[in-house]
Amino acid sequence: MIKKMIHKNPCAICGMLSRVNRGGVTLCLPCHADVGARVEELRAAGEAVNVAHIARALFRERFPGAKSYILRDIPEDLWTAAQHAAVERGASLRELILTALRREVGE
Ligand SMILES: [Zn+2]
Repeated sequence: MIKKMIHKNPCAICGMLSRVNRGGVTLCLPCHADVGARVEELRAAGEAVNVAHIARALFRERFPGAKSYILRDIPEDLWTAAQHAAVERGASLRELILTALRREVGE
């Protein structure tokens, strides 16, 4: 029997590992509920719904001091391997990188 490995990815908002996906965004169950509430608000107002934008907005509300960092000159073979790993895990590159950072700092 072949056992398929199912990866958990970090929630795009809080970082908790989860398998829940909505609109291509990994969310834990509590954050999924929060996103769902925003989706309903937008739909009720007749506005366009973009789960990734909602998740980013919720992230920024919860972590107002979050930092951005541009990383240049990533070796091409490492970047290609990372892209393949992300696809294999059903994760974004952001999720993959944050998982690696959390592992390195012991979070
Ligand atoms: Zn979450």
